[in-house]
Amino acid sequence: MSLNYRNRIIPKVLSELIALGFVLFIIPAIYIFELCVVLPAVYTGKGEHDSFWLSFHRICGTFIMFNLVGNLIGVILVDTSTKNVIIDSSQIDSTKGWHICAVCETLSPPRAWHCEICKTCILKREHHCAFTGCCVGFHNFRYFYLFLVHLCLATIYASYFNNYFIWNLLADELHWSHIVRLVMPLSILFFGIDTSMTQLYMFYYSVTLIGCLFTGILIFQQSHLVFHNQTSFERNKKTRNYDYDRMESIKDSLGVRWYLTPLSPFIQSDLPHQGIEWMNREEYYAESSKSR
Ligand SMILES: [Zn+2]
Ligand SMILES: [Zn+2]
Repeated sequence: MSLNYRNRIIPKVLSELIALGFVLFIIPAIYIFELCVVLPAVYTGKGEHDSFWLSFHRICGTFIMFNLVGNLIGVILVDTSTKNVIIDSSQIDSTKGWHICAVCETLSPPRAWHCEICKTCILKREHHCAFTGCCVGFHNFRYFYLFLVHLCLATIYASYFNNYFIWNLLADELHWSHIVRLVMPLSILFFGIDTSMTQLYMFYYSVTLIGCLFTGILIFQQSHLVFHNQTSFERNKKTRNYDYDRMESIKDSLGVRWYLTPLSPFIQSDLPHQGIEWMNREEYYAESSKSR
């Protein structure tokens, strides 16, 4: 199955443009910070195997960085709208969730919903992502989910080393205001912005800690949806129409080669169908009782 790409990828809403700008700045900034400042400070060369561990963690960090960037590009570039969908009139069945989108003035497949910001209907619409300025849906969900997974890994990994690095750095000049600044990065507005590198390092430390918490919660929520073949919209409506087989649910979200997707965003993992026709629970149980 070949993917379609979006033409206009720059977010149209200012807050989304700022959020995307922040993501595009902070991810490489922390990557460089970890590889060039933190790791050399932790592995100073005094230990026997320091150079080995330095290289080892740099390679692991680069692998995560590669996956972060690749999956982020995937979320933004891959078109998951209904624009490229070719509908066969025999598929249209209002009892199966086909509905008219009043804005697009067309028929929309089941589980596809209109997005006011993207101005189109989105296949298996999950949500509109405020960090990338586009919708997450059937075709780009895999990239979104694995971006989250790698972001969570990255923030845990970085926090582990940052913890060691920052407390060593502050050991000689520890002051109560440092703690406040770590917990609330914006308190620098109160204490006055000092331009020292320590201030910047503390900011990165806070960002990774907040990132851990934020991505952890998101992964928990999204994994629940993946396992139960639900979208956030369906969860809010408490419908579980498509929740009948755990493995099918995972394939519907991450593709048939889902187990390889954590390795690289470039590994092909085709979705099992076009995202237009969805078998529901009743049909599934009727069919499996027939074949028995
Ligand atoms: Zn629409
Ligand atoms: Zn949208």
